[in-house]
Amino acid sequence: MIEHSLQALGTALAAREVSSVELTRLYLDRVAQHNPQLNAFITVDEAASLAQARAADARLARGEGGPLTGIPIAHKDIFCAKGWLTTCGSKMLSNFVSPYDAAVIARFTAAGAVLLGKTNMDEFAMGSSNETSFYGPVKNPWDAARVPGGSSGGSAAAVAARLAPAATGTDTGGSIRQPAALCNLTGMKPTYGVVSRFGMIAFASSLDQAGPLARSAADCALLLNAMAGFDERDSTSLERAPEDYCRELAADAGPLPLAGLKIGLPAEFFGSGSSPEVMQLVEAAVAEYRKLGAQTVAISLPSMQLSVAAYYVIAPAEASSNLARFDGVRYGYRAPQYDDLNDMYGKSRAQGFGAEVKRRILIGTYVLSHGYYDAYYLQAQRIRRLIANDFAKAFEQCDVILGPTSPSTAFRLGEKAADPVQMYLSDIYTIAVNLAGLPAISIPCGFVDGLPAGLQLIGNYFAESGLLNVAHRYQLASEWHLQQPAGLV
Ligand code: GLN
Repeated sequence: MIEHSLQALGTALAAREVSSVELTRLYLDRVAQHNPQLNAFITVDEAASLAQARAADARLARGEGGPLTGIPIAHKDIFCAKGWLTTCGSKMLSNFVSPYDAAVIARFTAAGAVLLGKTNMDEFAMGSSNETSFYGPVKNPWDAARVPGGSSGGSAAAVAARLAPAATGTDTGGSIRQPAALCNLTGMKPTYGVVSRFGMIAFASSLDQAGPLARSAADCALLLNAMAGFDERDSTSLERAPEDYCRELAADAGPLPLAGLKIGLPAEFFGSGSSPEVMQLVEAAVAEYRKLGAQTVAISLPSMQLSVAAYYVIAPAEASSNLARFDGVRYGYRAPQYDDLNDMYGKSRAQGFGAEVKRRILIGTYVLSHGYYDAYYLQAQRIRRLIANDFAKAFEQCDVILGPTSPSTAFRLGEKAADPVQMYLSDIYTIAVNLAGLPAISIPCGFVDGLPAGLQLIGNYFAESGLLNVAHRYQLASEWHLQQPAGLV
């Protein structure tokens, strides 16, 4: 059962071959068995999950279920869930029980999915390794001495270790795609505005976007069907006709399913920035795509080299503003001892935030301050526009852009923790996509010394369905995504 696709699970549930309670119990038992080692979950509430499973079973018995009814899903602890501890990986919210549901949570509940638990993450989603979490690092199921990637590392480790059939994540600069790559999963960051940010704790609001982390593109399509949709409570939510993201996957497209597809290979992705072993796997995937009928074209994204620098101005600027709300007054951590109101603010924030979050707040307030705003913040915004223009030009020449997701496979715990710039560079291939607001997906493309590597496919605005199909056709022709870590059965 733990190797079933979401579609197969849905079929088994609908046919009453298995109940949601049985399925949820199976996964809760796996979490109890393996989470002490992996630290993928921050909160598990067996009684709450089983109550949802019973409700799902009742719904299925009435014949009213949908494709996800009764399926347990793990959610990144950045999503507010009513009655659940919602920490965002921070001491600041270590006592925060949400009084309401994020749009993403509400949509999964409406679909009848079971909330299996809240997953570990870098504090306020700031990180690429899951080491900044107040709840401790997550271990990569492929090698417990290595990071699972971040910031959605708990979700990635949970799905990779089969502690959950699928999970949600958020991606501000790569936090769905990079952990997907490091844990052998498929993870998608949708077009900005496709999934509501309501109730998703804000890091950098103009970049944040929620998406699915799963074992295949087909599973991601089903999850995105539940997640996407207009929401008037998010002012950047896009009002568009609902789409079925599975619609292209079922077609029998013959031996050349991708005939006519033009794949752009940017010079900047094929330079010397990546490990040669990862690049060999990416090249092999390109060869596979040619076999599936795709053509390749050389393209260039010249401003991409500025993306990490621009991101580390814009994201901290927005974070410093968003995190101003955590002041110890209305909710969250409050220092136990203080002299007056200002002292209470200062001590609560000094004690409640970790080092990386403080670094970002300092950078953010600095680049927004009078005298530096023009030099840093405005300049970064101009670069952001140039990057978006590069992509627009590229999509005149091709349908999809291909490259590595991460320059390396999973690194060792502690390896980059003391060097923020090295850590920031692990998102060198993912960040530009967020700056431009585009959709992208990471899929497994092979192994280097037993560690998974990820292939990134980037599409034009609203090209999710096509991207999922391009990923799916590769997965029909390859078996990388079916490999699972040893020792967790
Ligand atoms: N690693 C990047 C950062 O630390 C991206 C994080 C994310 O996508 N949430 O900001």
